[in-house]
Amino acid sequence: MQAINTENITIDKLSIPLLKRKKVNVDVLRLDKIHPLISGNKWFKLRYYIEEAKQQNKKTILTFGGAWSNHILATAAICKIKQLHSIGIIRGEEAEDLSYTLSLAKELGMQLFFISRNDYQEKKIPSALDNTDYYQIAEGGFGKQGAAGAATILDHCKIENYSHICCAAGTGTMAAGLLRKISPTQQVVAISVLKNYLEMEETIKKITDKPERNLTVNHNYHFGGYAKHKPALLEFMNEFYNQTSIPTDFVYTGKLCYAIMDMIKENYFSEGSNLLLIHSGGLQGNASLSKRTLIF
Ligand SMILES: *Cc1c(COP(=O)(O)O)cnc(C)c1O
Repeated sequence: MQAINTENITIDKLSIPLLKRKKVNVDVLRLDKIHPLISGNKWFKLRYYIEEAKQQNKKTILTFGGAWSNHILATAAICKIKQLHSIGIIRGEEAEDLSYTLSLAKELGMQLFFISRNDYQEKKIPSALDNTDYYQIAEGGFGKQGAAGAATILDHCKIENYSHICCAAGTGTMAAGLLRKISPTQQVVAISVLKNYLEMEETIKKITDKPERNLTVNHNYHFGGYAKHKPALLEFMNEFYNQTSIPTDFVYTGKLCYAIMDMIKENYFSEGSNLLLIHSGGLQGNASLSKRTLIF
């Protein structure tokens, strides 16, 4: 199992005509490079949970996710590296063929339990696990320790260089973590990948200590909802790759980059703004698209 290597993280400065025209600087923090399976932000969000589990002498980690969950796969991989047993509670009935994500998780030793969508809503744990001693991590690594871990993402850049830190948001844990680290004059711009999850701001506030004015959540770029996509998004991802050589995923970072470029077009960012885009990984999820949709 390949180790996690945060030394592989680079900061790529984008040179696209639009940015020159609008006098906006965009750097991309490439967390996608730390590991082929443990995508970007998931390692950061999980690190303190895993530390706590070790401190409590737990041998097993249990968490939740869907069939294409980056969080499930990252948990399976980290547990393999840390020699912990892992259990994934998966939303929905077991499909005849496991998804690419779940088959990788299984190969890494994760024990999978499939529960109905109703039971999943209540996060019901199968009774077969009644006698198992485990450390539980919420879906998507949501929680204060997840945010504390995500805050350490910014140890990999010179944060004072930037006016805006931009990220994709699912549970909002990463955004909450970034908020913890910024100064009062900086902004976190979070692009929600969920449709009409208008409580996102409230949820983020619960796990951070920063005033709201440093946070903007944009709800206009979900492309139909979580893990939904449209031709315009996929075309954009190909074009963005042609222009920058940066691959993105259609669930999170593709929507983030599309949104930020669009907001720049619409003059959302004033001249002289310095943006840091968090490339939070997730590339393995592109395997759920039909072949040749993407050029990378
Ligand atoms: C999970 C994930 C996110 C969202 O992080 P949250 O902390 O849940 O908001 C963003 N990008 C990628 C690639 C992810 O896997």
